[in-house]
Order: sequence, then C-alpha cells, then structure tokens
Amino acid sequence: MTQPLRVTVWNEFVHERAKPFVQKLYPDGIHAVLADALREQLGADVEVRTATLDEPEHGLTEEVLGQTDVLTWWGHTAHDRVNDAIVDRVQRRVLEGMGLIALHSAHASKIFTKLMGTGCMLRWREAGERERLWVVAPSHPIASGLTHEYFELARTEMYGEFFDIPQPEELIFISWFEGGEVFRSGCTFRRGRGRIFYFRPGHETYPIYYDSNVRRVIGNAVRWAAPTGATYYGEGRNIPEPLSPIAGRGPAEHD
Ligand code: ZN
Repeated sequence: MTQPLRVTVWNEFVHERAKPFVQKLYPDGIHAVLADALREQLGADVEVRTATLDEPEHGLTEEVLGQTDVLTWWGHTAHDRVNDAIVDRVQRRVLEGMGLIALHSAHASKIFTKLMGTGCMLRWREAGERERLWVVAPSHPIASGLTHEYFELARTEMYGEFFDIPQPEELIFISWFEGGEVFRSGCTFRRGRGRIFYFRPGHETYPIYYDSNVRRVIGNAVRWAAPTGATYYGEGRNIPEPLSPIAGRGPAEHD
C-alpha cells in the first residue's frame, strides 16, 4: 500500500479575521476550506495539515516541511510579513522535490517570486465579473475529470495580462474575463526536483474555494505535484578525480 500524500495548506489568515464579509465566507479560514477540499478530492490518499502566518516559524518548521510532500500557499495582504529565512527553507524543500501550489494572490508572495525570478506582477480589477477558464491542455492530469471545454466562475476579481512570469513549462488554463482581459490561469514550472503549479482562482471576497471545478483542479494539482523522479543533488562540487581515466593531457599548465 502506498503512503498517503502529506500536504500542508498554508494561509496568511489575515482577511478572514479582519473583514466580516470574508469571515462569513470562510469562518475558519481559507485554509480550513482548502483542507476540506483536498480531503474530499483525495480521500485516503492524502493527509492534510494546515499552517498560518502567526504560528511560530509561520507553522513551517524544518520538521513540518520535512514531512510535507506538497505545500499549498495562499497569501494576499501580508507577503512582507513572511520571514526571509522561512522563504529560503521552503525554496530549499522545493528544490529537493516538495511540490508547491501557488494560489491566486500568491503570485506576489516571496516564495513564488523567488522561485520564478521575475516580477510576477499583473493587472487586476475588483468588479465582480464573470471568468471563463478554458482548458488548453486537456490531456494534462491537472485537468483530469473536467467534462467541458471550459468552466466558469460567476463573480471574480479580474487578473489580466501581462503576467510577468517566465514562460510556463505547461499552460493548462487560460482565463477570459467579462471586461475583456485574458490571463494565463494555470501554469506549471519545475525548479530543481520540485514541481510548481500556479492557479489563479481564489479572491477572498467570493466563494471560489467552494466551487466544484476549482476544488477538483486543486486536488489534481496536489497529486501531480507530489515528489517523483530521481534523488536531487543540487550542490556544486569539484571532481578532481575522474570517474574513469581521461586520455590525453592533464590540466593546462600555468606560468
Ligand atoms: Zn485577490
């Protein structure tokens, strides 16, 4: 029997405590709803824990990260309160193979921008408009089980291009918005041994994480991002002794 995937759902958990209308949507925090979604989607295949900004080390101790196969990240208003040493720790784990699912405004989080190496900025508008997410990689496991060419969210915050990310390795969703903009809404990247998925939906003033398609995609993404492949050897090292004899001359002689 295979071991369940160990997922840590991270949330800054600020809006839900500060804004009554967000609290009404997510009374126990966005992390609680995401954790429920993963249990619903993956059942016995997953073991979910949550972590939030105000916990010691933001709940992301060496021990927790060492026992995390996939980390999901939701942050919006408090990116700058995330300690740089913790960001470095998360980055190291991603390079070692931990999957990372960056949700919505995590585009501007320290960990996402560090892993991307670009500004990761975009255009936005809060007008409660319709979003249509087109599936542009129907064979991809992250789109598994979606039954139509697109799915819609009735009211969302708009994110528009230009989205300043490196060229995604795979593009799974492209969003169209009622107001005319388009956006690369589902993008994969690899860094070291780690797999990263950016997924746009999730503004906190709409019930986005109760949507069945959104929940399905996040469940699929967690499964896809699980560590796989070979052992990661990321350190640089000099190899003065060759593995097998080298014919011909040795190193160039210096004066
Ligand atoms: Zn937002």
